[in-house]
Amino acid sequence: MNILKDFLVAPGSKVHLKAFKTDACGKHDSKSSARSKIKQLQKRLDVLQFRLYAEGRRSLLICLQALDAGGKDGVIRHVLASMSPQGCHVVGFKQPSAEELDHDFLWRIERATPKRGEVVIFNRSHYEDVLVVRVHDLVPKQVWSQRYEQINDFERRLAANGTHMLKFFLHISKDEQLKRFKKRLDDPERHWKISEADYTEREYWDAYEAGYEDAIGKCSTNDAPWYVIPSDHKWFRDLAISTIIVDLMEKLGLELPPPGVDIDAIRRKYHQAVGRSVSEHSGKND
Ligand code: AMP
Ligand code: MG
Repeated sequence: MNILKDFLVAPGSKVHLKAFKTDACGKHDSKSSARSKIKQLQKRLDVLQFRLYAEGRRSLLICLQALDAGGKDGVIRHVLASMSPQGCHVVGFKQPSAEELDHDFLWRIERATPKRGEVVIFNRSHYEDVLVVRVHDLVPKQVWSQRYEQINDFERRLAANGTHMLKFFLHISKDEQLKRFKKRLDDPERHWKISEADYTEREYWDAYEAGYEDAIGKCSTNDAPWYVIPSDHKWFRDLAISTIIVDLMEKLGLELPPPGVDIDAIRRKYHQAVGRSVSEHSGKND
């Protein structure tokens, strides 16, 4: 298995989600065997994100999409939390407000895109406007069907202006979703996450699948690729996503900015300060 290639959706391809596994594990057969690799990747992610921030020239936008209980919150907690909150934040997109609906669908998205040096994680995204909106006929087909091209134009513009993008669909099986719903029911700490919609949306599974197949196929580009991540095993999902993010960031060739001062001169000042401090202390002891 090659994590970087196997889950990448080739631009212009026709996607059949059933052809993508939900329960892949790679060479690891358990969470414990993958744990050290995940830890190593998290450490590297921390270093790379700090460099991106220090460099202050480019940015990274990570989009997370999934059906209910797909694990978006888990990815944020386990993978992305290793980055420093200085220069990295999460933006969640729920049902649009009245004000947002009074603008075009990309208005609220545009305002949330990362600044130079930042990493921004979208928990849901503009893709909802060709997913939930399509499944529930929230706007006419004639409107949503034009959005794929609008999304590609928008993302191309971001890329041309220094924003790198990675888009992850957390792919779980229908059985796994039900298992996670049960876990939520059994655990009072998770009751707040339960919504009636979880069960009604499950009835639309096939329609969502068709929506995702179109969105992912039409909008996976070299600049802003889509990955279909096997997510039944949470640890494998975390391993795959951190591998892909670290790989992209390594390729950016991030460099720390050169010092804005003469380091040798500052070092001399430091030694002078140390010398003074030592003589002050010895003076006190006299
Ligand atoms: P959750 O992520 O579970 O908090 O739920 C957020 C809800 O907002 C989901 O049911 C989404 O489908 C919905 N949502 C997000 N974006 C849109 C949108 N553009 N139009 C309609 N519903 C949306
Ligand atoms: Mg939900």
